Amino acid sequence: MRDESCIFCKIIAGVIPASKVYEDAHTIAFLDIAPFEKGHLLVLPKYHAPTLPDLPPEDLHRTIEVVQKLGRHLIKTLPCDGFNVLQNNGACATQTVPHVHFHLVPRHNSTPICWIPSSYPNMDEMAAYQRLLTYSE
Ligand code: AMP
Ligand code: ZN
Repeated sequence: MRDESCIFCKIIAGVIPASKVYEDAHTIAFLDIAPFEKGHLLVLPKYHAPTLPDLPPEDLHRTIEVVQKLGRHLIKTLPCDGFNVLQNNGACATQTVPHVHFHLVPRHNSTPICWIPSSYPNMDEMAAYQRLLTYSE
């Protein structure tokens, strides 16, 4: 299921670009353009469901398995010491893109927790993170 007006559906369809790090038949993951920390990923089902309660369970299961794999991958490859998984539902919960997604935010023992969106200094650095974090099984 796809929504033509949804920015994440457009990324899934390849209509607009994203710094993709993982894709399979049901799931996609890419760098968040406004990361809380460098390497911040978004993991989402290809099925367009606005919020978590709308998502068929099999798509949730597939997506959360990818969240787990990419969490392990971040720790090993970035590397980082841990990560936050964040999932917002509804504008009241600060959801800005109504297509279910999980944030995977790398964390470091040496760095205080920050929930303020930032940006990559340039496209080269963002591309370097994309290369570093690209995951295939
Ligand atoms: P949320 O507030 O949970 O809905 O998160 C939506 C996230 O999507 C935000 O962290 C945005 O920075 C991110 N985002 C929006 N558009 C794009 C895009 N084109 N590519 C990558 N990340 C995006
Ligand atoms: Zn969508």
